[in-house]
Amino acid sequence: MFPGEAEVVVIGGGVIGSSTAYFLARAGKKVVLVEKGYKGGEASGANAAFVWSITRKPGIDIRLAMHSINIHRQLQKELDRDFEYVYNGGLLVIEDEEQLPFVEAHVKARAEDGYPLEMIDAKQVFELEPLLSEEKIIGAVFSPIDGTTNPIFLVISLNLQAQKLGAKIFHHTEAREIEVMSGKIKGVITDKGTIKTNTVVNAAGCWGCFIGEMVGLKVPITPFQLAMLVTEQLPPCVSHPIMGASYMVEEDTGKEGGLGCGLIISQQAAGNLLIGASWRDAGYDKRINQEEIELMARVNVEAMPSLKDVRVIRSYANFFPHTDDDLPILGKVDGVEGFIMACGHNGHGIGLGPGSGKLIQELICEGITSIPLDELSLSRFN
Ligand SMILES: Cc1cc2nc3c(=O)[nH]c(=O)nc-3n(C[C@H](O)[C@H](O)[C@H](O)COP(=O)(O)OP(=O)(O)OC[C@H]3O[C@@H](n4cnc5c(N)ncnc54)[C@H](O)[C@@H]3O)c2cc1C
Repeated sequence: MFPGEAEVVVIGGGVIGSSTAYFLARAGKKVVLVEKGYKGGEASGANAAFVWSITRKPGIDIRLAMHSINIHRQLQKELDRDFEYVYNGGLLVIEDEEQLPFVEAHVKARAEDGYPLEMIDAKQVFELEPLLSEEKIIGAVFSPIDGTTNPIFLVISLNLQAQKLGAKIFHHTEAREIEVMSGKIKGVITDKGTIKTNTVVNAAGCWGCFIGEMVGLKVPITPFQLAMLVTEQLPPCVSHPIMGASYMVEEDTGKEGGLGCGLIISQQAAGNLLIGASWRDAGYDKRINQEEIELMARVNVEAMPSLKDVRVIRSYANFFPHTDDDLPILGKVDGVEGFIMACGHNGHGIGLGPGSGKLIQELICEGITSIPLDELSLSRFN
């Protein structure tokens, strides 16, 4: 039966909304999650599956990543269903001399902030990943704590456990309006009925801007399209998540709106390789074109030549919720009591999701969070 009221309504059933609903249910809150499509049906189910910290910058960025990695490990112990989380280290590979100064500056800044990284030479890279091309790679940054997950299983596991703890989860249920009276949240109107509540969590990812509009807020989140390839199942051959340092250079210099691609490779437990990623300024268009597919294949085969004999069985594109400073928007907002932001996780939401969910639960239940959220508030964009 559709609930008439809830202590908290979470809008969005991706990794952020699902993590938030799980931790709220675990803390004893009556929580309802509404998802307009299906669980993990958007970015949270169509990504590269990295739980990653190497490229995170000093300050709040790396603190969020480290905090969330700990929460992934905690979830591995407390969720009933396995979500294939493995962490035996990640590699940011340096493909040419031009990338080196960016990488060295990053490694230095991270060490100064107390989060050191290890630079390794080409020989050490091939010991870790023998399939990488000796001609293409000149070295790498290694982080022993990084890894991969199965993001679809993660979302499903969170949903199942939340339901066990009493959360009500409704798929194919769209939040259409939010009722606000005298600056306070009063309810959420969905296409299945109205839920009275004093607290709404906006976990709608790329659509977080439209949920913000429902309460009169401007939320500066835009969709940024990324595409990936999936190969046939292979015996174990890639042991670490591998990312090209071009991503870091692009992040530092600003990604161009046109077509681009950087090296991404990881292997899922079932044996499929996830290969990417191309990016394209495509608004909310999820289609992927032949040019993107060929570009991803070319970039990745250059780095790992044996891939040329491997069959690609499908491709997908989705968009991550982009913010200008590459950080999520988390926490309360000025002027609308009971409205809480939990979106804008850019290309890091799988890694950051469980940590963000826990922080939002702490905010709602305890009023204080284990990482202060001031730097992540919506008001930073004013
Ligand atoms: C190709 C690709 C590769 C990526 N690789 C990685 C990676 O390796 N590691 C990493 O950490 N991150 C990665 N990301 C980023 C990551 O996927 C996102 O940051 C993360 O999934 C965002 O989660 P979310 O829950 O905020 O959004 P979503 O998963 O998009 O969930 C938001 C949900 O809100 C729902 N919704 C919207 N409006 C409404 C409404 N009105 N009513 C009800 N429901 C609504 C949507 O249907 C959607 O399911 C990648 C992204 C892409 C596209």
